[in-house]
Amino acid sequence: MDTPEVTEAPLVPRIRTCDGCTACCEGWLTADVHGKYMYSGRMCHFKGPGHCTIYDQRPGLCVNFRCEWIDNNDIPEWLKPSLSKVIMYRRMVNDIGYINIVETGAKMDSTHLNWIILHALQNGLNIRYMVDSGWNFIGSPEFLAAMNQ
Ligand code: SF4
Ligand code: SF4
Repeated sequence: MDTPEVTEAPLVPRIRTCDGCTACCEGWLTADVHGKYMYSGRMCHFKGPGHCTIYDQRPGLCVNFRCEWIDNNDIPEWLKPSLSKVIMYRRMVNDIGYINIVETGAKMDSTHLNWIILHALQNGLNIRYMVDSGWNFIGSPEFLAAMNQ
C-alpha cells in the first residue's frame, strides 16, 4: 500500500482537540520522527499507550500536523479519526491544494465515503481518497492531471 507522507500543515486556529485520538501516530502515514521511520505496519517508535512519550520533544512535523477534523468545523463529529477510522489532511501537488483521505486499518465505511464525496462535490474540493487500500480522485482537471503524472 502507498503510505501517505506526513508534511507540515499551515498554522491555523484549532477548532477541536485530539482528546484520546492517536490515529496519526499509528503508522497509517509515513514520517521520519527523529530518525525513526513510521510507515504502514509500523507505528511511531515514540507512541505509548494512548499518548506520545516524547510530547515536549516531538518534532515540528508532529507539532504542526493537524487533520481536517481538528481544523474544520464542517467535518462532522462522527468523522473523528478514532471513530471513523479515516484520517483527512491537506496536501499540495504542483501548487494545487487537495485533501488526502486515508483509511486506518479498515475499508472505508460507505456512509463516511458518501458524505466525503458529496462534501467534495458541493464545495469544489480536490480529494484523493483511499477505499479498500486503493486510491481514487475527484477534483479539477488540473488536479486530476497532476495525480496522473
Ligand atoms: S488524526 Fe487528527 S484527531 Fe487524531 S491525533 Fe491526529 S490530529 Fe488529532
Ligand atoms: S513523536 Fe509523538 S506525536 Fe509524533 S508521531 Fe510519534 S507518537 Fe505521534
